[in-house]
Amino acid sequence: MSAEADRVGVIGAGQMGSGIAQVVAQAGLEVWLHDTPEALKRSKASMEDSLGRLSARGRLQEAPGAVLERVHPAAELEDLAGVRTLLEAVTEDWGVKSGIFARLRELLSEDALVATNTSSIPITQLASSYGRPGRFLGLHFMNPVPVMPLVEVIRGLGTAEEAVAQALDLVGRLGKTAVQCNDYPGFVSNRILMPMLNEAIQCVMEGVAEPEAIDQIMRLGMNHPMGPLALADFIGLDTCLAILEVLHSGLGDPKYRPSPLLRKMVAAGWLGRKSGRGFYRY
Ligand code: NAD
Repeated sequence: MSAEADRVGVIGAGQMGSGIAQVVAQAGLEVWLHDTPEALKRSKASMEDSLGRLSARGRLQEAPGAVLERVHPAAELEDLAGVRTLLEAVTEDWGVKSGIFARLRELLSEDALVATNTSSIPITQLASSYGRPGRFLGLHFMNPVPVMPLVEVIRGLGTAEEAVAQALDLVGRLGKTAVQCNDYPGFVSNRILMPMLNEAIQCVMEGVAEPEAIDQIMRLGMNHPMGPLALADFIGLDTCLAILEVLHSGLGDPKYRPSPLLRKMVAAGWLGRKSGRGFYRY
């Protein structure tokens, strides 16, 4: 890649966008990160924390400060105008994402590579909101991004082979493993994961067992590193609900119907770790 092509834009500095910006900077690329000032402040603190832990374990090639210097806070979307690779990681909401892609069409050059980190919204539909489907695809990073090796690479109906090749190259450069799939609701990861998390929530609602017991059964009995309710809290209950809604409407099968308890907790603002309360207190 040339120096110009090394400029990457990341939109959304929540838990995923922060992690993505961090691994891009760790790979030696310059990254412009756009969100609100408060989110950018939280994101810097979380990157410092994560880089400090990686450094203490001897898993960083350079000082944490040197990595952070490659992350440039961008107060305005317009600050991302020159980037050749754009990774979007804002809230899982069609209206928010499609609004951003419509604006990006005006800001980015025709050959820019644009990827969304959506967990479930159809890539083909988001590609249409951007308007250049050949240059658009899904790059679904896993949480926490600096630790998890997988990136699910999702082709929209119009994604060009060249864009896929460029994306695979980028994922390799970030030290991650790319696995490809096609564009159906929830792709592979969330189509399989979310029904399990939803069923665990139904178990709480029906009083089958306490959250701790459900998580312990899945950890000790199925060898899962985290129980499903701790994982739902970690992902964010609002994000889980949004993904289940997409699976339910996109596939039309009642087996994906979100648990009423999940809806109730999201309505109460109990979103898991990020709000301090979910199935557990933080
Ligand atoms: P989050 O709530 O932690 O962060 C979302 C961020 O988007 C917030 O900082 C918010 O301020 C920002 N945002 C919202 N509207 C914006 C706009 N118009 N412009 C700029 N920034 C805006 O959410 P997250 O968990 O980081 O999820 C982000 C995306 O990643 C979602 O699409 C989600 O489905 C996906 N994802 C999440 C996980 C997970 O485990 N949480 C895993 C894989 C993919």
